[in-house]
Order: sequence, then C-alpha cells, then structure tokens
Amino acid sequence: MAKTVLILGDQLSFDYISSLGTNPTEDTVLMVEDWSLVERKPYHRKKIALIWSAMRHFRDALETRGYTVVYRTNTSIISCIAELRQPTVCVEPREQDIRVLLVAQGVTFKPDPYWFVSPSAFSEWMSTRKQPRLEQYYRMVRMQTGILMDGEKPVGDVWNFDKENRKPFPKNHQAILQPCFAPDETTLDVLAIVATIPNLTGDLDNFTEAVTRDAALERLRWFVDYALADFGRYEDAMSSRDMYGFHSILSPALNLSLLSPEECIDAAVEAYAANMAPLASVEAFVRQILGWREYMFHLYEWLGSESWNEQNALGATEPLPDFYWTGKTTMNCLSITITDTLRSGYAHHIIRLMVQGNFALLLGVNPTEIRDWFWAAFLDAYDWVVTPNVIGMSQAADNGLTATKPYAASGAYISRMSDYCKGCTYQPKEFAGDKACPFTTLYWDFLIRHENTSLAKTRLSTNYLALRGKTPTDRAAIVERRDMLKHLLQTHQL
Ligand code: FAD
Ligand code: SF4
Repeated sequence: MAKTVLILGDQLSFDYISSLGTNPTEDTVLMVEDWSLVERKPYHRKKIALIWSAMRHFRDALETRGYTVVYRTNTSIISCIAELRQPTVCVEPREQDIRVLLVAQGVTFKPDPYWFVSPSAFSEWMSTRKQPRLEQYYRMVRMQTGILMDGEKPVGDVWNFDKENRKPFPKNHQAILQPCFAPDETTLDVLAIVATIPNLTGDLDNFTEAVTRDAALERLRWFVDYALADFGRYEDAMSSRDMYGFHSILSPALNLSLLSPEECIDAAVEAYAANMAPLASVEAFVRQILGWREYMFHLYEWLGSESWNEQNALGATEPLPDFYWTGKTTMNCLSITITDTLRSGYAHHIIRLMVQGNFALLLGVNPTEIRDWFWAAFLDAYDWVVTPNVIGMSQAADNGLTATKPYAASGAYISRMSDYCKGCTYQPKEFAGDKACPFTTLYWDFLIRHENTSLAKTRLSTNYLALRGKTPTDRAAIVERRDMLKHLLQTHQL
C-alpha cells in the first residue's frame, strides 16, 4: 500500500529514507518548509536559510534518484499530511513537541538509526544507577561498540585525556583557513526569502554553510586533515583573533543528519590508525560525539521537555541582559564572542560554556531566558540539544543531573584560557572597585549567595575553601560592587 514518507528538516539522510522502507515507485516523500515552526522563536537568519537550503538540495537529490517528492513551502506539515490522505511514516522526531504534533495526525514512527543507544536502553541503564554520569555512560558505549577499544581495555589504557587537553593557544597562534561553500542558485533563492522574514536574529551576510551532504563530507575531511591533530590540546583555548580554533564546526551538519555520527567517529579513528592525529585528540573528539552528544539527547528524552523547562534548582530569576542581543557591552570577552555569534551563528563549546553561559549563571539569569537566547542565536540549536546543554550543563538548574558541579568561573579562568582580557577595561583578578572584572565579582557573589546550600558542602566544596580567605570587608565590597554592576546593567552602562 502506498504511503507518505515524511522527512523533517533535520532528517536529510538517505539512511532515513531506507529505514522507512521507502519504495520509489509507490511512495510519496513529503517535505514541508513549515512557517508556523519558524514563527516559534526569533531564530538566527542563517539557521533558517541553512535548513531550507539543505532541504531543497535534499529534495533534488531524492528526485535525481527517482523518488517522487511533494515539496511544499509557506504552509504547515499538518495540512499537507491531511491533504495527501495516506498512512504517513516518519523517523521518530528528536524534538518532543513535533512528536506530539505528528502523533495527533496518526503519523507512525520508526526508530532513529543515528543513535548508538536507543532511548529505551538508556532508560534501562538509568534505572540501575542513583546519579547518571557522562563518564560511566561513555565507557559503557565504548565497551558496547568497541570504538577505541583494545579488547576489554581502552586503546592506550586511558579512557579520558581531559587533563592533557586544557592548553591556551601559544602567543604566535594563527587561525587556520576554514572551508567555505559559496551559495548556489538554490541557496540564493532561499536567502532572498529569509531576508523578508521579520523578527529573526543575527545577519544573513556571507552565508557559506555546508547545505549538501557532499559539502558536509568535505568539511569532515577538512577537519580530519587540518584540525583534528590539534583539537584535543587546544579544545578549551579561546582567542579574539580566531573564533574557531581547531574545532570541527560539524554540529550544524550532524544535527541536520547530513552526516552520521558514526562516519564522523570512523574518520577520526582512521586518522589515529594512520598516525595523522594523536590519541588524546582523537579520543577527545570521539567523546564529544559518542559521549556528550548522545548523552545530552538521552537526558532530554529521559526527563522530558516539560520537566526541563521547570528546572531552576538555583532559584535564578534575573532577566537576560539586553547586550546578549546586540553584543554591545564593555566586557571584552562578551562583546567579542556575542558579536561573532550574532554574525555567524557559532561559538565553540568553551565560549558557550565559560563565557556566554557562565556570565548568565553568575548573574543568576532565569534559565529559560538564557536557553531561549542560545536557541535563537545558534545554527545548531534544537530543543533536544540546546535545552539540556543550557539548563543543565551551563546553568546547573537541574540539581546536578547533567554535570557534577556548576561551571562557575571567575575572570581568572577567562584570562588564562584567552587573550580577551588584554584589551578589556576591567582587571580579571580584581573583585571590588571600578576596575573589577564583572565575572570575578559575580563569581564570589555566586558563592556567597549559595553559601548555605548543599553546593557549598558537596559539589563546590573546593571553591568554598577559597571563599574562607575573604574577610568581612572583602565580602561587603563584593556585594557593593555586585549592586553597582546590576545598576550599570539596568542603565545599559555595562
Ligand atoms: P566540536 O568541538 O568540534 O565537537 C564535535 C561534535 O561533538 C560537535 O559537532 C557536536 O555534535 C558534539 N558535541 C560536543 N559537545 C556536545 C554537547 N555538550 N552536546 C551535544 N553535542 C556535543 N550543541 C549543539 O549541537 N546545539 C546546541 O544548540 C548547543 N548548545 C549549547 C549550549 C551551551 C550553553 C553549551 C555549553 C553547549 C552547547 N552545545 C550545543 C554543545 C557544543 O557546544 C556544540 O555542539 C559545539 O560547540 C559545536 O561546535 P563544533 O561542531 O565545532 O564542535
Ligand atoms: Fe571578560 Fe573580565 Fe577579562 Fe574583561 S577582564 S575580558 S570582563 S574576563
């Protein structure tokens, strides 16, 4: 019996077409540029352009291979499903609200072939432990898949090279050239449409994203050949002259399913076998994809989107400062990185966690407000990945579910790992007075605010040892400077 095969905007893979048993002579593939989804949030302009252009290129690839595609623009998925009047199948959507929407239309789902561990297997694993931890999950998946394993042991006898992977860039660091993909006619058409949509974030200029599988494979090849060897060592390094470092910039393609996680991991492991990259780098990259990426998805699934939205373990209620939407702030690190993100839709992990997210955590911003900024500002942001990363990992609003301790750091960390502080009005080591770095003041204030909670006794106990060295006068100066910073924020002077 003929069926409709629904391919969502983040399911652009022939592996999905196969796993849905699509018959090119009988079935209709349905793809929809759904405007109601675009209107949900003020997404980055380049993200909408990326998704629609990648969808149109995937439609063309399907038609070249003989599939019948119904491709609709400026309408809703729901009305198209109703119009086709056939049983509709789809790979299980990663986003929970889309799943609910489609179930209500009678759409049936097949499992997503791109997860190494199924959601039910993850729930089973969770039922055997008090507290989930990435490291245990990651080891379990490595043992199950045999990736970077030497029998029962990890290759090189070490599971985790984190300690070797925390170097700042050397003084003479130079950015490496990134691959760019000039927009073709299809992309130019999409860019013209997106330019007419009001109330989106960021700009559309210089759009050079990978919108086809071939381009995504080229980016993967580029990463393995030119960046992987240094990926581990400089994973945490930040620079005002190089926003990418040796990161892969593969998340937009991975999250659209233009690439499978398995082929990215295989490419890195093959590079190690060919002596092109050290184990510390290859293991670090494998951990990001096999570990963190999957783990975040499973935590999102396991807790459920609604429960994630209710998480606010630290009672954070401050509004998000306006400068997140403009990049206009006197703090050099935030000014540089937010401006870069609004322009490109990208920042690497440590910038997201230790600069953009850290400031909101220290200030006590409401977790869903900062989550919505990350969702709007990035090309790779989807509920399943942005929500656990922001509400859990970055804002520690989940009571320790995602990370052992909050990623709270003062200006000293940013000064050690970047060159941002050199051009800044503030002094990273000072916590009081007009020149005090806002991160540093707010870091101590964060510790003082949560002094009588379990954070002080357990997860941040070593940070609290340092707080003991602060005299009552120091503490009063921290609180005074904190109040001044809030005033400066309210009056747009910070
Ligand atoms: P690389 O550093 O080259 O890493 C390789 C790949 O590993 C990435 O492409 C990504 O697919 C995966 N990965 C690594 N860490 C994570 C993680 N914590 N969660 C999921 N995947 C991971 N990632 C997104 O894909 N979308 C988001 O919206 C997103 N929001 C984030 C918000 C915050 C506050 C934080 C701290 C992290 C967020 N991440 C998000 C995770 C991570 O920062 C990005 O995946 C990564 O920076 C993408 O750049 P890259 O491809 O160059 O990554
Ligand atoms: Fe950022 Fe503080 Fe450094 Fe300025 S001094 S760049 S505000 S960390």
